[in-house]
Parts: sequence; structure tokens; C-alpha cells
Amino acid sequence: MAHNEIDQSIKTLFLDSAVKDNVKCGKGCSFCCHTQVSVTRDEAELLSQRIIDGLDIDLEKLYLQSKSENKASEWYKLDHEARGCVFLDESGECKVYDDRPAVCRTNNVISEPVNCSTEDGQERPVRLLNTYASDMITMAFFINSKENGALPYLLFKTLEKRIDRKHNELTK
Ligand code: SF4
Repeated sequence: MAHNEIDQSIKTLFLDSAVKDNVKCGKGCSFCCHTQVSVTRDEAELLSQRIIDGLDIDLEKLYLQSKSENKASEWYKLDHEARGCVFLDESGECKVYDDRPAVCRTNNVISEPVNCSTEDGQERPVRLLNTYASDMITMAFFINSKENGALPYLLFKTLEKRIDRKHNELTK
């Protein structure tokens, strides 16, 4: 998994005080957690394991989100609440922070956070920190992955497969 390398690369950028002073992302800000996040199959496996291990998420919401498959046009037909990532807690924090996907790690906004809001179904231009090195790691991670897709779609598919496998083992 490329997560450690991405974190190291981002950490190096934050040694610069200009970066620290200008990145506006903070704990509890979850505007970008209502967009369609992409994951690799390995990331979907990791997140599915967290659920199998007992992490409580809204499975019905995940199912409804997964119906958008990888289509952004379908995703943005869902209302804002329905688009909230299933891993967001009540205070807008990520329940899987240490295992969050690569794209959640590289997103560092330097424009006003409110511009990241898609509450009205519109995406606005946002200015991101130049995270070239970690973006290259993420790109290689995705290129080398057997399958990539929208988080809810790939996660639901992965969970279904794992449940089917378990069912087959138990009924052999
Ligand atoms: S995994 Fe965590 S950081 Fe990523 S979109 Fe979901 S709640 Fe947000």
C-alpha cells in the first residue's frame, strides 16, 4: 500500500511554514467527503476489513451510494446528506483516518474551504496545494491496481464478494 510513502511526502511539504500557514483543511471540515472519492481495490479490501472487524457504518446508505457506480452524473443526483461518506462521524471526522484512501491524504486546499462545498450539487474550482510527488505515487498506485472505482461502489462490491465467499465456505 502506498499510504506511508504518500504521508511521508506530504509531511515533508508541511515542514515549510508557508505551507502550514496556507493549507485550510482542518479537523471536522468534511466538504470533500461529499464528493465521489476514488479508491483502488486494495483500499476497498482494507476498508471492507474494518467493517468486517466491527466498524459501525450505515450499510443501507452505502448500498444507495453504490448504485451510482462510477458515474459522477448519477452521484450528484443524490442529495448532499446522502452523498456524505459512510465513514464520516457525527462531528464530521473520518472514522478510518489511519486507513483513509490515498486521494483523501493528498487533498490539501489553499482556497476557502466553503468553495469545496457541493451542497447545491455544483462543483466549484478550488485551489490545491501542489502535491506533485505524492500525486505521482498515487497515480502509480492506481495504474498498478487491478481495479479502481468510486469508494461506495467498489467497497460494496468487495463486501458482497467477501460475504459470498464466506457463505460458500460455510455451506460446503
Ligand atoms: S474516507 Fe474519511 S477522509 Fe475519505 S472521504 Fe471518507 S470520511 Fe472523508
